[in-house]
Amino acid sequence: MTVLHDAVLDWYDANARDLPWRSATATPWSVMVSEFMLQQTPVSRVLPVHEAWMERWPTPADLAAEPTGEAVRAWGRLGYPRRALRLHAAATAIVEQHDGEVPATYDELIALPGVGDYTAAAIATFAYGKRHVVLDTNVRRVFARTLSGVEFPAQSVNKAERELAAGVLPQDEPTAATWSVAVMELGALVCTAANPSCTRCPVADQCAWRAAGHPAYDG
Ligand code: SF4
Repeated sequence: MTVLHDAVLDWYDANARDLPWRSATATPWSVMVSEFMLQQTPVSRVLPVHEAWMERWPTPADLAAEPTGEAVRAWGRLGYPRRALRLHAAATAIVEQHDGEVPATYDELIALPGVGDYTAAAIATFAYGKRHVVLDTNVRRVFARTLSGVEFPAQSVNKAERELAAGVLPQDEPTAATWSVAVMELGALVCTAANPSCTRCPVADQCAWRAAGHPAYDG
């Protein structure tokens, strides 16, 4: 696996986008807000709204102190505004149960309103550098292609897929955290759903789907 790890991690080092929620000074709250916003909205549309939210509500307590209607209004055109209500509810729970600090463990995170498996794993990983399997659409597609030799993953995450992802997760915590964001970025920028750029892919020589001649997805 080291070859795969090195290829993806080196590529990420050279090509990662500079996003505010990935900066060294990003707070766990900034990461959490970004994860809610990115669930169904592309990065380019999330960026300005995320910036405005961080200016207006730099901590969970700042958001929790305002009526829910303000959160929905400030959600703007991100779509699925129910996410703003969930984020407000989560901020309120963080204030009431965690002294206003975004909790660091998966178990505490998943207990928050509106936080499911993916979001809990993503916040623990990206905000606190923990070691978790983080399976979003991009990561799932990269693994389906490189490891399983199929164009797309199953409709929803199953046990075998989770085990496969766990099997390639680097052992040490900081590397595992970077690995998760690096695979995600590879899926977002290179191994895209419709037009994967295999010619500039760092794992092209290790990709099972490419080796098989890019067979069409048969469901
Ligand atoms: S070789 Fe192509 S299909 Fe395989 S991971 Fe890279 S971009 Fe995706």
